[in-house]
Amino acid sequence: MTQLHRRYHITTFGCQMNKADSERMAGILDKMGLEHSDDPNCADIILYNTCTIRDNAEQKVYSYLGRQAKRKHEHPNLTLIVSGCVAQQEGEQLLRRVPELDLVMGPQHANRLEDLLTQVFDGNQVVATEPIHIIEDITKPRRDSAVTAWVNVIYGCNERCTYCVVPNVRGTEQSRTPEAIRAEMEMLGEEGYTEVTLLGQNIDAYGRDLPGVTAEGRHQHTLTDLLYFVHDVPGIERIRFATSHPRYFTERLIRACKELPKVCEHFHIPFQSGDNDVLKAMARGYTQQKYCRIIDKIRTYMPDASISADAIVGFPGETEEQFENTLKLVEEIGFDQLNTAAYSPRPGTPAALWENQLSEEVKRDRLQRLNHLVSIKAAERSERYLGRIEEVLVEDCNPKDPSQVMGRTQGNRLTFFAGDIEALKGKIVKVKITEARAFSLTGESLAMAAIGSSSKC
Ligand code: SAM
Ligand code: SF4
Repeated sequence: MTQLHRRYHITTFGCQMNKADSERMAGILDKMGLEHSDDPNCADIILYNTCTIRDNAEQKVYSYLGRQAKRKHEHPNLTLIVSGCVAQQEGEQLLRRVPELDLVMGPQHANRLEDLLTQVFDGNQVVATEPIHIIEDITKPRRDSAVTAWVNVIYGCNERCTYCVVPNVRGTEQSRTPEAIRAEMEMLGEEGYTEVTLLGQNIDAYGRDLPGVTAEGRHQHTLTDLLYFVHDVPGIERIRFATSHPRYFTERLIRACKELPKVCEHFHIPFQSGDNDVLKAMARGYTQQKYCRIIDKIRTYMPDASISADAIVGFPGETEEQFENTLKLVEEIGFDQLNTAAYSPRPGTPAALWENQLSEEVKRDRLQRLNHLVSIKAAERSERYLGRIEEVLVEDCNPKDPSQVMGRTQGNRLTFFAGDIEALKGKIVKVKITEARAFSLTGESLAMAAIGSSSKC
């Protein structure tokens, strides 16, 4: 490697999966002896880890990239990399659009960064987008948090939701072995991490590509089995998982979550639409009634469970009445949080070619109405915490008030309370909730709960 390449900067767009990929790529660059820089203008290597789920995410990448491509004319030793979903979608075309780029690499190639950069430093312009078997995570990631960590359990997605670009850019499902996942979690426990979120685009599909069938005819390795397998990892006190798919969500999984004390009673299960015809057009493979049955079942086992989801408004052909079915579902379920989006036509997806696209104005109006309802319902859900004692895992100080620390309840509500971050970081603290807002809480610390005594309320 040339001495000119010393500092690197990574900007990450998009989902938790991308954040986890960026942490692994940063780990590889650290191992190569490069220094991390928060400021892209001080870096010799700039990596944009990109998202293409909606058009605005993609356009943001081009605007960032344009600035750095100009800078490269004055600093020819600058190395420019685009990784992630835009890289996979555009491939070689990206080089035509931004010839200053040195490396274009799809998400499946994240663990190959050192090898690819070596080719770049040898003077090549490199495109790595061919489907490959993902190399096991052998590099120690540079994690953003010292308290909570992402652990990938399954890459890719085999679903074909008609709006979604993920299967095109992230490839088919590839599950990591339970042993590799447990080994990563054991390392995290030894390093002092308290919480792990297991990640997959469709995490309920975990293990269906791994060999082995049980005597009952089930896949030998399922998400439920994985939770039992990793549950006793020393030091890890909280386990979360995301994202769940209503089509594959099982009662066996719900029972495991109830039974295993470290598994947080928070479920992220996107429903996308509250209308059966829209769900059919989306090729989601379930009905609104099935979705409600899953939530009922979760609440039968765990009445206080937090439920979050994703929803899309303005899908092609969605009528006002169909949109109102989404509002009705939101009203009925009472989500703790809902990520909402206006439908964005994506290249290479079936729905993008349909003629019944809605105007931006209609989509914007529906999004506003949905968001309004979501905050009302989230505020109602938050009220149940008032006066309660919650266990909060302290992650950091409140950036707006340094006299306060912030962390999350077991149900994933962001919570602030007065405290000293030096003493509390990574600790689970009992907090009496005194204020409840739609998406956050404020409280007073009672006493520090001993780590390991975490219990579900
Ligand atoms: N696998 C998860 C599932 O099935 O729900 C979601 C993964 S996707 C990366 C995250 C969210 O982006 C989706 O739940 C969906 O709400 C949203 N999304 C995906 N494609 C979209 C599109 N074309 N327009 C608007 N939102 C979209
Ligand atoms: Fe996209 Fe559907 Fe796969 Fe989720 S399940 S990543 S929405 S194709």
